[in-house]
Amino acid sequence: MTEVLTHDLLIVGGGAAGLRAAIAAVEVDGSLDIAIVSKVFPMRSHTVSAEGGAAAVLREDDNLDLHCFDTVRGSDFLADQDVVEIFVKNAPEEIIQLEHWGCPWSRDSNGKISARAFGGMSVKRTLYASDKTGFHMLHALFQTSLKHASIQRYDEWFVTSLLVEEGRCVGVTALNLTTGELYPIVARAVLLCTGGGGQIFPFTTNASIKTSDGMALAYRAGAALKDMEFVQYHPTGLPGTGILITEASRGEGGHLVNKEGERFLERYIPGKMELGPRDILSRSIMTEMEEGRAFEGLYGQYVHLDLSHLGEKLIDEKLPFVRELVVKFVGIDPVHVPIPVRPVVHYMMGGVSTDINGKTSLSGLLAAGEVACVTLNGANRLGSNSLTECLVFGALSGKAAAHDVLERKPVPQNPIQQLAEEERKRISKKFLEKEGGKERVSSLREEMHLTMEKNCGVFRTGQGLQEACTTLRELRERFDDVVIEDRGRVFNTDLTAALELDFMLDAAECITHSALAREESRGAHSRLDFPQRSDEKFLHHLLSYATPQGPRLEQQAVTITRWPPQERKY
Ligand SMILES: Cc1cc2nc3c(=O)[nH]c(=O)nc-3n(C[C@H](O)[C@H](O)[C@H](O)COP(=O)(O)OP(=O)(O)OC[C@H]3O[C@@H](n4cnc5c(N)ncnc54)[C@H](O)[C@@H]3O)c2cc1C
Repeated sequence: MTEVLTHDLLIVGGGAAGLRAAIAAVEVDGSLDIAIVSKVFPMRSHTVSAEGGAAAVLREDDNLDLHCFDTVRGSDFLADQDVVEIFVKNAPEEIIQLEHWGCPWSRDSNGKISARAFGGMSVKRTLYASDKTGFHMLHALFQTSLKHASIQRYDEWFVTSLLVEEGRCVGVTALNLTTGELYPIVARAVLLCTGGGGQIFPFTTNASIKTSDGMALAYRAGAALKDMEFVQYHPTGLPGTGILITEASRGEGGHLVNKEGERFLERYIPGKMELGPRDILSRSIMTEMEEGRAFEGLYGQYVHLDLSHLGEKLIDEKLPFVRELVVKFVGIDPVHVPIPVRPVVHYMMGGVSTDINGKTSLSGLLAAGEVACVTLNGANRLGSNSLTECLVFGALSGKAAAHDVLERKPVPQNPIQQLAEEERKRISKKFLEKEGGKERVSSLREEMHLTMEKNCGVFRTGQGLQEACTTLRELRERFDDVVIEDRGRVFNTDLTAALELDFMLDAAECITHSALAREESRGAHSRLDFPQRSDEKFLHHLLSYATPQGPRLEQQAVTITRWPPQERKY
């Protein structure tokens, strides 16, 4: 019998949300035994690549109501407003807390934390540490977590399933990637902080580890996913690689220009221009492409992001990483030459449905960060709200999870062995000891990518979405016949790629089914066959529940406190 590993609280994910949650839980009770499981070393979590900054009201020309309103309007009135209010209220103290933990925020000459403009924000509110904000934040959180001996880590362990006993989540099964051994890890509460799933699409800014694992784990265990149809395209990625050119480059004054040399945003959002929200900018660029005003290159169409008028000094001071990336990956220097860019999949507004404290509909299971949908972002997230979301809701869920643990009895161990044994058999039978099988992970993944890009991108139609639903169902069936070549145990990336594809197929189905059901255009969800927003029919969230036939959808009311829905104007 395999050893059963036991902790009080188990956090899956070592990015900003997971680390912030762990520290919050220790602060509730230092004697709690807390573990963090992460499929990569925590400092390699996607948070590390965040560039632009984290939003919070810290400056005199700003106020809490304005940040609330910007977020609600940015969400196209689908955010839950009680959530937005808590978020905005807690954000400043989280930023200052991070300062005390050693995050080296950039400073103005008067010593205050520097802020830059970001899309959809009415004032300069995006606080930054040069253009490596995620790197510095994650470092500060990681170092702080190391001070607490009661936080243990399982680095390079891959969670394959949630253990559910009598309607309660009691732990996970996880593969130790170094040995290939599968272990049950039991806990009185499990907090998912596994990040997003941009890899469901072929062209994305997201690291290759962002494969919607936590969403699929929760969904399979019976919890609901929420607002999955809302997938954010960032307007400025490098063609070919999808590497992000941060919004900070527009915040600092960069221009978007088409083939004719026009600042074409004049046509679409003259009041905000480059500082418009991401959904509107992405649609504008796609329209320029469709109407023949974009450049044609090796990797398809693109427009220019011109920073050359900003000057070398400003670029080196405020955007050094942008310069480094463009020199290395495009071979041009943005100080002198415009950068080729195009919209790229960046972020999932949807995720595991939670309340303000991260609790899901499954007892013992919580979620925070990008994997969760606490419903801050609604139909479109504003840039720089996400890092702060990880801090605010990471902290609230870490606290709630710790209190949950203190109230619960230890988990009985008997059924755990059996549940873990079933999972071990599933993985053996399906992958490691499978006889026959003719489908390849890479080709199924490619087919998923093709249908998602073609039918579920910036612009969508009912017909295309129906096609995507059908294709994904077929891929789900064909996945049963998948075969992996590496049957070894040590760092079997063939196996983890198969498990990740399995997760992505589940999340992709939730995205396309919800998108098909939402017959309106709102935020990042733009239906050519239903171009208007319809508050009468669709001012609600869509919840996806797993069934053997695919997702079953349910509606949930939007919480409106102080900002009644109105036309979204900039
Ligand atoms: C290039 C880029 C730039 C960005 N810039 C900004 C910005 O400037 N401002 C902003 O607000 N937002 C930005 N974002 C968004 C923001 O960075 C993310 O939404 C946020 O960092 C997510 O943090 P997280 O803690 O939820 O997840 P992540 O940082 O993605 O961490 C996920 C963790 O879960 C673990 N994990 C996942 N699956 C498993 C599994 N099966 N088993 C075990 N462990 C698992 C991983 O190992 C990892 O530790 C950016 C995103 C990208 C991609």
